[in-house]
Amino acid sequence: MGSALVILIGLSTVIASLPAQTPTTTAPLSLERYRSVADSILHAGLFSGKAAAMLADLTGSAGARLSGSPGAERAVEWARATMRANDLDNVHLQSVMVPHWVRGSQVEAAITNTMTGDPIGMHACALGGSIGTPVAGTDGDVIEVKSLEEAAKLGAAAQGKIIFFNRPMDPTLTNTFEAYGRAVDQRVNGVVAAGRVGAVGVIVRSMSTSIDTLPHTGMLHYDDSVTKVPAVAISTLDADRLSAMLVSRPSVHVRLRLDCRTLPDVESANVIGEIEGSEKSNEVILLGAHLDSWDLATGAHDDGAGCAQALEALRLLKTLKLRPKRTIRVVLFMNEENGLRGATAYASQVNDTKEKHIAAIESDRGGFAPRGFEVEGEDADVARLARWARLFETMGAERFSKGESGADVGPLKKHGALTIGLIPESQRYFDYHHAASDTFNNVNPRELELGATAMALLAYLISEEGL
Ligand SMILES: [Zn+2]
Repeated sequence: MGSALVILIGLSTVIASLPAQTPTTTAPLSLERYRSVADSILHAGLFSGKAAAMLADLTGSAGARLSGSPGAERAVEWARATMRANDLDNVHLQSVMVPHWVRGSQVEAAITNTMTGDPIGMHACALGGSIGTPVAGTDGDVIEVKSLEEAAKLGAAAQGKIIFFNRPMDPTLTNTFEAYGRAVDQRVNGVVAAGRVGAVGVIVRSMSTSIDTLPHTGMLHYDDSVTKVPAVAISTLDADRLSAMLVSRPSVHVRLRLDCRTLPDVESANVIGEIEGSEKSNEVILLGAHLDSWDLATGAHDDGAGCAQALEALRLLKTLKLRPKRTIRVVLFMNEENGLRGATAYASQVNDTKEKHIAAIESDRGGFAPRGFEVEGEDADVARLARWARLFETMGAERFSKGESGADVGPLKKHGALTIGLIPESQRYFDYHHAASDTFNNVNPRELELGATAMALLAYLISEEGL
């Protein structure tokens, strides 16, 4: 059987397995045509990658970047300067008003009715957006619950109490993002459930996969029709201890002291830069990440890693002189952590332009070794990307599946963009997520760079082949 025939047979089986709308004749050839592109991107990244250097620069020069803070403004300037230094096109700021919550310096969550009379302090931090307490603090007996529903059922028994939400992230779920998604309602909505039943404060077990003394902060949502109560997260170790104490003692009384508060909104910005397309410049492939971070550390994994990867992806393409047919744009969004104002502002202006966003790829799951991409679309959308999977094997990112893209690019879905999320290994992310340990030294430079190479390759393939 001649090679031409073999190829034909090979082609026919490939064609049969691909969804109907995929280009029929060239898929294997274009796959091969991009092999050298994939190899050169990977080689350039692993040999002389700059993702880690950019991350060190961002976390070192801007530090913690909570929306409205001086660190966030330093980050905006850093991002603009970095885009210009990498010779990106049309570098500009998109102004956006953002909330300005400040943590203050006072945080106490102490058990006061101890045998010795000396209060036992727990490792705690205010939840983002929480109100403060009176100077003397807010105190009450603690009631432990495992869900919002259980809190609601307390009724009058909760009057004047402090409600302790202590349902851990499920350790039996391999996908830690799923475990987070199933537990975080306690952090986000616990204050409303508690306020509704007359409680005076909330303690939440940290959303973490590790048992240690690190409290993990994060956003909460108040309801203006319900009395606002102060809220803290305590470390998982303290949560286990408090829970054990509640079993062994008739009552546990806790005092919370916080001086956090919300100041008026301030002006900030999304930072945008791109490589203009050579043929279809009005068609855009967006690489997104959020520039803001929580303030307990420097947001190295969340989401400095995503910012460095998106910038590095474009630096790699420029360095390799891979000029895309369509425009590949980096958008570093402001205010993902506590309001999504940046993402909303960017999506709201899409219709004012003559541009067509065909895809948006977000990295906001940490700088760990890439495993692949989740596509927020139909099976056919996944299949269209998966036909390139073999090109990502050497990066370890060949898994294409249906799933979540990301909070910042999500709003672009309704504007016709296929939204995609970079999926790294997830086993360590929630050890650092929103905690004081989310620092540069906990990011592995090679893992970070591999994520950037995968984003660069996917953006380039979509820019050349379309969707
Ligand atoms: Zn994030």
